[in-house]
Amino acid sequence: MPGFELFGDEERKEVNDVLETGILMRYGFDGPRKGIWKSIELEKEICNTFGSKYAQLTSSGTAALTTAMAALGIGVGDEVIMPSFTFVASFEAVLSVGAIPVLVDVDETLTLAPHAVLNAITRKTKCVMPVHMCGSMADLDALKHICDEHNLILLEDACQSIGGTYNGKKLGTIGHAGTFSFDFVKTITCAEGGVVMTNSEDVYVKCDGYTDHGHDHKGVDRGADLHPFVGYNFRISELHAAVGLAQIRKLDTFLAIQRKNHAQLKNILAQVPEVSFRVVPDESGDSCTFISWFLPTEEATKAVVAEMKAQGILPGNFYWYANNWHYIRQWQHLKDVTTLNNLNDEQKAALLQLQTQDFSASDAVMSRCISTSISLLWTEAQIKEKGEKMVAAIEKALQS
Ligand SMILES: *Cc1c(COP(=O)(O)O)cnc(C)c1O
Repeated sequence: MPGFELFGDEERKEVNDVLETGILMRYGFDGPRKGIWKSIELEKEICNTFGSKYAQLTSSGTAALTTAMAALGIGVGDEVIMPSFTFVASFEAVLSVGAIPVLVDVDETLTLAPHAVLNAITRKTKCVMPVHMCGSMADLDALKHICDEHNLILLEDACQSIGGTYNGKKLGTIGHAGTFSFDFVKTITCAEGGVVMTNSEDVYVKCDGYTDHGHDHKGVDRGADLHPFVGYNFRISELHAAVGLAQIRKLDTFLAIQRKNHAQLKNILAQVPEVSFRVVPDESGDSCTFISWFLPTEEATKAVVAEMKAQGILPGNFYWYANNWHYIRQWQHLKDVTTLNNLNDEQKAALLQLQTQDFSASDAVMSRCISTSISLLWTEAQIKEKGEKMVAAIEKALQS
């Protein structure tokens, strides 16, 4: 899964280019930077690689989501429909623009269940935000159809699915806007960073200003820039962009390794008749950062997790159902509205409602799911050994 596994001379070279001039900021200092513009170069490379018309780098994936929402005009009073299984950043971004997160069930795609989205639409719904979790995609045809019918914004959180595709198009470029994260454990990393991709010039120009205190970047220098609207500082640094530039050039290599390793491990796990696999709407577009698999019951899954733990082979396997970061069940701080600053009344009411909302359909999926992260460094022999140990642990747990 993570690009940090193949960090090397290429990344060092790009960072050194920046260190040579000492101009660590992405804007201005035109003379002293001696033609080194890593952020601009990376944005161009992102547009070329993913087929997006525009790309705006940010300081993180969370900042990218916040920026996208602001640029799309999502704010106080607006509801954003999002999945019960995601990373906490998804609801953090919704809350940060003053909007209301509406959490709905996931299905065996591990992403938004289209019928659950349909049932959650109200007069206040402004946006549907699928999260392409664990390397693979939501049912985008169905979600796009719902958005078109109800005149809603489709914002793709593709932070975990860099390089995945759906019907030939790159994830993150299909909705009105899409985001990637380049944090340390993502498919390609900048250490910290993110991007908003969009085909709308209007949305892009807003993202460009919003991430830099509202600067319009049209002045002869920063001091002469105008501020057509209020922004923040969500800028990426040149050092971070430099790392990203080396990493994006390796993306095809990462994806090829992930797909090969994923296929080998899946073949081994498939020998167990009780194991089934995540539903992937477009199998050929899976970026294969994880292999996500199901057991028949919650009880069996817990037994397998316990057996893998006992055998010391649990690291790299994630039981999200009991995990503090990724699933509604353990988001106590969210459900209790434990925030440092006061939220607006509609936000608070919506969060308190999560305490009693029925997520049994999500539970039925997530309580049976284990995701195994795919390493870029595994050898074929290691995958064989790993897979065989997993199969033995699964079979032992299922027998007892
Ligand atoms: C990593 C991630 C983010 C946010 O990324 P950061 O760069 O860590 O802020 C958002 N959504 C999902 C689904 C993620 O996995």
